[in-house]
Amino acid sequence: MTQIPKNSKIQKPAKTPRQEMPKQEPEVRAANFDEVALGYTEELAVAEASRCLQCKKLPCVSGCPVQIDIAAFVALVARRDFRGAVRKLKEQNSLPAVCGRVCPQEDQCEQVCTLGIKGQPVAIGRLERFVADYEAGQGEPELPEKAPPKGKKVAIVGSGPSGLTAAGELVKLGYEVTIFESLHKAGGVLVYGIPEFRLPKRIVQREVDYVARLGVEIRTNFVVGKTATVDELMNEQGYQAVFLGNGAGLPYFMNIPGENLNGVYSANEFLTRVNLMKAYLFPEYDTPIKRGRRVVVVGGGNVAMD
Ligand SMILES: Cc1cc2nc3c(=O)[nH]c(=O)nc-3n(C[C@H](O)[C@H](O)[C@H](O)COP(=O)(O)OP(=O)(O)OC[C@H]3O[C@@H](n4cnc5c(N)ncnc54)[C@H](O)[C@@H]3O)c2cc1C
Ligand code: SF4
Repeated sequence: MTQIPKNSKIQKPAKTPRQEMPKQEPEVRAANFDEVALGYTEELAVAEASRCLQCKKLPCVSGCPVQIDIAAFVALVARRDFRGAVRKLKEQNSLPAVCGRVCPQEDQCEQVCTLGIKGQPVAIGRLERFVADYEAGQGEPELPEKAPPKGKKVAIVGSGPSGLTAAGELVKLGYEVTIFESLHKAGGVLVYGIPEFRLPKRIVQREVDYVARLGVEIRTNFVVGKTATVDELMNEQGYQAVFLGNGAGLPYFMNIPGENLNGVYSANEFLTRVNLMKAYLFPEYDTPIKRGRRVVVVGGGNVAMD
């Protein structure tokens, strides 16, 4: 582990404000589809991590759905042991570059961070993102120890975050794991739903590649139920267990007049055309999209914003 240099004082949390993450300027980002947030520099990350109080009760960990040892990874960042921080993160989460970008930390770990009671919580998500991107900048990622092979096969249906996570955990436990994905690209909503300006596709691909490097086989263009049924996977292809991570891809419609008109899209169809099929580059890419000068968006949640 990297030692803290003698002259590097860890700053007192109360005196250090939450570090802002650099972003594209509005006039620049209005003219491109690139990621808006640019990520912390090493200095910003160390300054932010140094705000953490290293609480005894660790409310942040209980606020994290996958129970990342947040205080430990943040302490490693504060000491500039970025590789150690990656290892700590990956003990609990195989997709840190994705979660560091799109997990709703403000409703989870950051919401219960002690520093948030009287001021601003530690920017846990930004630090997670920094650590994952730091690792990516260092070449091939380190692979964790795996348990000895158990001689048992597990089929995972769907390559969204749930399928990738289950696959990553199971392969580390020694199972032989195959992901079956109906689309031509792995990633689920991470590739067909969330737009490039929030989650670049190369970041998703990096996480998918990591799961593959752990030893998971990923078979795309394979619709479970059509290409092979669950029964066939289990009775004929030797899978002892099947994890259904097929998501919630079908939209609910409102059943109102005009809903079937040309130019009315469900969120999933619109985003799939744009994100996965690159309709914004039609006719260079095959999939078209209707572009209106005046557009109505029904709903006001995150998907509507995307
Ligand atoms: C536009 C949008 C933005 C979002 N933004 C955020 C966000 O910022 N933060 C956040 O936390 N959550 C966000 N969400 C929600 C989040 O994406 C989902 O909760 C998450 O993707 C669910 O993961 P999943 O793995 O269960 O399913 P999915 O990501 O839907 O993946 C399911 C996969 O299964 C495949 N599949 C389905 N049926 C079959 C079959 N029969 N055979 C083989 N493969 C099959 C699908 O093709 C798909 O790839 C957003 C959702 C949308 C739609
Ligand atoms: S609750 Fe906040 S301040 Fe306390 S250990 Fe967790 S991240 Fe650090």
